[in-house]
Amino acid sequence: MSAPILKIRNVESFYGPIMAIRGVSLDVHEGTIVSILGANGAGKTTLMKTVSGVMDPEKGTITFDGDDIQGAEPHTVVQRGIVHVPEGREVFPLLTVDENLSLGAYTRTDKVQIDRDRELVFSYFPVLKDRHTQEAGTLSGGQQQMLAIGRGLMARPRIMLLDEPSLGLSPLLVQEIFAILKRLNEEQHMTMLLVEQNANAALRLAHHGYVMEVGRIVMDGAADTLLKSEDIQNFYLGVQ
Ligand code: ATP
Repeated sequence: MSAPILKIRNVESFYGPIMAIRGVSLDVHEGTIVSILGANGAGKTTLMKTVSGVMDPEKGTITFDGDDIQGAEPHTVVQRGIVHVPEGREVFPLLTVDENLSLGAYTRTDKVQIDRDRELVFSYFPVLKDRHTQEAGTLSGGQQQMLAIGRGLMARPRIMLLDEPSLGLSPLLVQEIFAILKRLNEEQHMTMLLVEQNANAALRLAHHGYVMEVGRIVMDGAADTLLKSEDIQNFYLGVQ
């Protein structure tokens, strides 16, 4: 297999004296979907913040496409093609759908390609086209999640970091959004690292999975193997 595009080694991150990430290592290969599972407080969000440059790790290395990026500023990380997709409630509620999408492309100047990417987003999320002049705050929870993903796509990412895309959504909507994420991976070769409490949906989507507990990776494997694992069944599946 090729070298991983994202390589995390022995990373430790703290909130003051509290060690939230305790020596995490993981790999993401280009064109794959990797899911990180874990209960509340396991350290999933902290790991994402550390990769996207919002937090600096105390120890360890984060290598993206061969370059060390640990401690880099968030805007530098975005320019390299690592885009953090927050949960849907973090879209800008008073801005329209169009304005939110434009903000996703704020580091770019290639107007023609930006317009093409907007059409690409609309082809995956037609409801956003129907509502493009509407304020984001008036969208449903599922539509806001779609907008958050669409805004991430507007940055032309090489990898998307998705923070709990299933949060607060009905099982039917989770299915719908995860099916679109799968298509984005298959059709656009989009590489994704997602954190999820919904282990079932996350493992059905992913190629590889990691399980976090109290700041550590305690298990990892091919997603279909983890889906069949008794430990995972007992502790994580069915957790919404
Ligand atoms: P959740 O799904 O609830 O966000 P998580 O797996 O993403 O959980 P983190 O939010 O990364 O977990 O939290 C990891 C640990 O760090 C937890 O023990 C949490 O209490 C602690 N923590 C998180 N944010 C802060 C903060 N701002 N200050 C101090 N401790 C924090």
